[in-house]
Amino acid sequence: AESKRSRLLEINKEAAKYFYFQLRARQGETGYRYLRDRQLSDETIKKFGLGFANKTSNDLVQYLRSKGYSPELIHEAGLCNVDEKHGMYDKFWNRVIFPIEDINHRVIGFGGRVMGDGTPKYLNSPETPIFDKSRNLYGLNFARTSRKGNIILCEGYMDVISMHQAGFDQAVASLGTAFTLGQASLLKRYTKEVLLSYDSDGAGVKAALRAIGILKEAGLTGKIISLEPYKDPDEFMKNLGKEAFQERIDHAENSFLFGIRMLEKEYNLSDPEDKTRFHREIARKLCDFSEEVERENYIEAVAEKYHIGFENLRKLVGSIAAQTG
Ligand code: ATP
Ligand code: MN
Ligand code: MN
Ligand code: MN
Repeated sequence: AESKRSRLLEINKEAAKYFYFQLRARQGETGYRYLRDRQLSDETIKKFGLGFANKTSNDLVQYLRSKGYSPELIHEAGLCNVDEKHGMYDKFWNRVIFPIEDINHRVIGFGGRVMGDGTPKYLNSPETPIFDKSRNLYGLNFARTSRKGNIILCEGYMDVISMHQAGFDQAVASLGTAFTLGQASLLKRYTKEVLLSYDSDGAGVKAALRAIGILKEAGLTGKIISLEPYKDPDEFMKNLGKEAFQERIDHAENSFLFGIRMLEKEYNLSDPEDKTRFHREIARKLCDFSEEVERENYIEAVAEKYHIGFENLRKLVGSIAAQTG
């Protein structure tokens, strides 16, 4: 099994090298242009080993075969598709390529983006014996040695890369797959504080709320970076720049208070009945704090922010806690 793993790592390294050189070749010019138009520097392209998969449909397969790699290994590495009509053909085709590295800088998989509006926007390697999506984070190979004292968790490849390019070398991404407890434990090796910088759309908010719970389960504190009015860290950086982003980091919101603020949107607070249900739901959530001082502090913060009488809220929390044991 160990030699299988090392052969998969080797073929991925070879593929990454190939993609990287294609980006610099004439046939890779559209890919190179695409990345430069998205304001990535040559240095950044090199640091992340970005590449290009050609338009011809079995370019990489042919190259790897010529290097002596077996069809089975190419397939097991997730670098090709196979069907009866076409035989073996490249999985990645006319896309810019983002190699995914483990914490030791070994290439374990790839992401590929269309250069425009095609679908799917991103194509990712399947899980293989060396690529467990729930136990890796894009960018952690660099972020692990960051001296920033926190980790910024975001959604996408371009978000990580933009942040690193702007000097935020503590950025990592969960890559579209839901953030897992395995990934949280991995982060815990390197930091105590995780700053969430998920997309500001509905899906991003939902994913952030889920991630907060998982971070808590792993014993990490989470804070939320607001990107408004921009959609994701990449767009924020492009429009407002790194000083503004640093300010958003400095003003990152407590994750519990973020959760309450999102909850608030579901209620019509001008209706007393709805408002009461909102307050009950807040009280239920406050019950989760088992340490008394912490609970009091949160009751105080919430009472003040939502204009609820402190004693009333405290009593409500107490009675719900008593009911639910
Ligand atoms: P870009 O800035 O290049 O448009 P993005 O990172 O902002 O990309 P999102 O739609 O916000 O794209 O998705 C976040 C991440 O989720 C992507 O970086 C990618 O890792 C993953 N992802 C997005 N779309 C897909 C897809 N169709 N299949 C698999 N993974 C995807
Ligand atoms: Mn998104
Ligand atoms: Mn996005
Ligand atoms: Mn984006």
